[in-house]
Amino acid sequence: MHGAYWISIIQKIGIQITDSEYVVVNMHIMTRMGKKVLKSLKEDTDFIKCLHSSGAPLEPDDLDNKWPCNPYLKYIVHFPEEQKIISYGSGYGGNALLGKKCLALRIASAAAKQQSWLAEHMLILGVEDPQGNKTYVAAAFPSACGKTNFAMLIPPEEIDGWKVTTIGDDIAWIKPGNDGYLYAINPEYGYFGVAPGTSEKTNPNAMATIRRNSIFTNVGLTPDGDVWWEGLTEKPPEHIINWQGLRHDPYSGKPVAHPNSRFTSPASQCPSIDPEWENPKGVRISAFIFGGRRESTIPLVYQTFNWNFGVYMASTMGSETTAAAFGEQGRIRRDPFAMLPFCGYHIGDYFNHWLEMGRRLPDAPRIFAVNWFRKDKEGNFIWPGFKENMRVLKWIIERVNGHATAVESPIGWVPRYRDLDWRGLNFSQQRYREIMEIDREAWKAELLSHEELFTKIYDKLPKEFIFVRELLLSALWRSPEHWGLQPERQETVAEIS
Ligand code: GDP
Ligand code: MN
Repeated sequence: MHGAYWISIIQKIGIQITDSEYVVVNMHIMTRMGKKVLKSLKEDTDFIKCLHSSGAPLEPDDLDNKWPCNPYLKYIVHFPEEQKIISYGSGYGGNALLGKKCLALRIASAAAKQQSWLAEHMLILGVEDPQGNKTYVAAAFPSACGKTNFAMLIPPEEIDGWKVTTIGDDIAWIKPGNDGYLYAINPEYGYFGVAPGTSEKTNPNAMATIRRNSIFTNVGLTPDGDVWWEGLTEKPPEHIINWQGLRHDPYSGKPVAHPNSRFTSPASQCPSIDPEWENPKGVRISAFIFGGRRESTIPLVYQTFNWNFGVYMASTMGSETTAAAFGEQGRIRRDPFAMLPFCGYHIGDYFNHWLEMGRRLPDAPRIFAVNWFRKDKEGNFIWPGFKENMRVLKWIIERVNGHATAVESPIGWVPRYRDLDWRGLNFSQQRYREIMEIDREAWKAELLSHEELFTKIYDKLPKEFIFVRELLLSALWRSPEHWGLQPERQETVAEIS
């Protein structure tokens, strides 16, 4: 049994029946659960019914059409009208912990559409500037594209006086307040984070969080009973047992931990947890940030021209496929708002819902795109990422508060080299041009592939998207000398200002 959230203005209670003890102990960390939730039930029927079984191995013939789930076709069936979730045949993650993706995203997003709010696959973080001003942003990156890392970011020492605090790392419920601003809560109580790549170097806050009261899934086991995964230290300890319970063969080329192995930890243990993280009113969101994993084409950061351009950008965002997603590695998969696997209704209606929200907000949050994963010709990441992402976040916060300058590019407002804070990082202007490049040919191809997505949802495609696409295309015909990042232009601007 669990309560996804009981103290908020938006609250949902679910009761899950499962045959997996693993699920029970995980839900204990991930949700607010227990007697308190039961007592807060106003009516006997006022909850979402969640039924889960890890399932015995079945032959296709064992199942007739009466079964809602057939593990050969699908694991989970959602019934938004009946407030019901049935999951069969998987004991893993979002397939089994039904409060997470199933309830807090799929069921909640369908309710949010009806009731004019948003249930999103987003982290929420707070940024405090040296004067003590606090700004909150929400960011959507697809699975395994950096949400948990970004939510727990510790700024480089040289960016002194700036601090990042964490509200949530995966899901945001966002509602317009009476004042016309958007307020967000994190409906979860814990983190279900990707283990590989998590280390003292990349995410010290996560490392401190997982030190106690935590569950590790599909990681390696050291002889002294500790856990290990790729990236935790340079080399695996000797005599380590891999995630399948076998002795690891260093020459096998196989990883010790499953690439999608996880930690489950209480959010309250995170050193950067924001004092407002359990405030039932939520925190006021000033910006939305969207980012995928793109080796080319998408620059490090840009601010979209307005809400409609932002919704277009988020709807067409893509990511190279990862372990958590289906499909081969390295292909671009369109993942609108990082919600394709989690939207509880037609994605075309979802785009229209976002456009409609924008029409109702007198001072809508600004919308930004980021890409930490662009690569150079040698195949190396151009951007150092992780804590250095603070430099991009700082510019975003300054833009939102009217303190940072930018220039117009064909796709949106972009920072010039000198608009970012480079204290403590050696990153050349040449390298910066590389990561900010908006290549005309690549963008023509990009816009063509947006058209592919639009064809799929033609009957529900917002008319705004047709015009935004035309405007983006026409902007690409401006002479590249006029795109703010060319050196000539930089000098001209420097002379004026
Ligand atoms: P989430 O699933 O969206 O929460 O993603 P995580 O924060 O768990 O990160 C997923 C993977 O991306 C991990 O292997 C991280 O080490 C890696 N990652 C996160 N942020 C960055 C970054 O800024 N740069 C690079 N190169 N990798 C990152
Ligand atoms: Mn995560």
